[in-house]
Amino acid sequence: MIEKKKNKKVYKKGLNLLEAYPIKFSESVVFVKYDGPVDNFSFPFPDKKVEHIIVNLCPTEPWALPTRAILKNETPDFLNKLEAVRTEYFPDSHCHVVVNHQESSLVNEAERYKSQKDWLSIHTMEPVYPYDTPVLIVKNILGLDIAFGQNTIELGILLLDPQTITGIFEYYIQKNEFNTRLIPISGTGLNENKILKVRPGTPVERILETHVKAGIKYRVFLDGPLNGTEVEDLTQKIDWSVKNIVVLEERDYKTPFPYLKVNKLLFTTSLMGELRRCVYCNFCDDICPVNLEPALYWHCYTRGEKHKARLYALEKCIECGLCSFICPSKLELLHVIRECKS
Ligand code: SF4
Ligand code: SF4
Repeated sequence: MIEKKKNKKVYKKGLNLLEAYPIKFSESVVFVKYDGPVDNFSFPFPDKKVEHIIVNLCPTEPWALPTRAILKNETPDFLNKLEAVRTEYFPDSHCHVVVNHQESSLVNEAERYKSQKDWLSIHTMEPVYPYDTPVLIVKNILGLDIAFGQNTIELGILLLDPQTITGIFEYYIQKNEFNTRLIPISGTGLNENKILKVRPGTPVERILETHVKAGIKYRVFLDGPLNGTEVEDLTQKIDWSVKNIVVLEERDYKTPFPYLKVNKLLFTTSLMGELRRCVYCNFCDDICPVNLEPALYWHCYTRGEKHKARLYALEKCIECGLCSFICPSKLELLHVIRECKS
């Protein structure tokens, strides 16, 4: 959410990244050929009774797979698959499908479908990052507090991503082959943002080949630059958990007025430009979705007192990375938070 106060932008409790960094993917899906060994699909069915299934159709990160790529304008068909999976494996559960409130045709289709189904609820959500992360989505949909990193199955809650639902349906119920995953690739290091159909087990370099701009230095992130992991070795293979790949051009000069270039994912990184001191601007406090004061962790860490970070509710941090993102001094707050937790 962005509020305007005295003509100054103030970021409050999360950020609508889809508005801040809109990313357009090309319409066509491209298959990535790979002849090496690949990983077969499998789903670890929980041995505990599932009471609630939450399906997120409201991604809040611009580099996430767009919902249209999964639903392909056939929402009832997708919900039929969900019903089949529930009936076969989780018959005692209630399904909660979360949709972006701005996607009115999707909301209407889902609501029409739901009118005949008492096992299903449709929830609408504003696509503000990081409100689709487990801690916040479980809180918003079920009103339950879970800890960051907690296995929700302990509470009878299963969080399923739409591609996994399709996988369970195709592979276990229909007995069809299911060996590809849709992976969106985006960022300033690419010629074009695309959606690829990839066999898990394929190396990152094979996936990105032909898509990275020629002659540039770049960095590659799995699952986003905010809190994903950087790929150090491009021969690394992707697995079934990878949701997206972001490639950022690494420049040795700063982009002037990056906030004016709204159509580009112009993240700068601390590899470029110096770290500065904390200027007590409170941007990190304002943006933190779980009401923490991230600068406190920085101060504990730099004073060599990282154990003291726990005095400031460190365990509540959901590691969304927004504090690092917004910090004008480019302090690597999430990195420090993870250090303090360890
Ligand atoms: S990484 Fe943690 S401290 Fe930083 S904004 Fe996210 S929840 Fe708050
Ligand atoms: S955003 Fe950065 S500079 Fe501002 S208070 Fe937080 S840590 Fe300090």
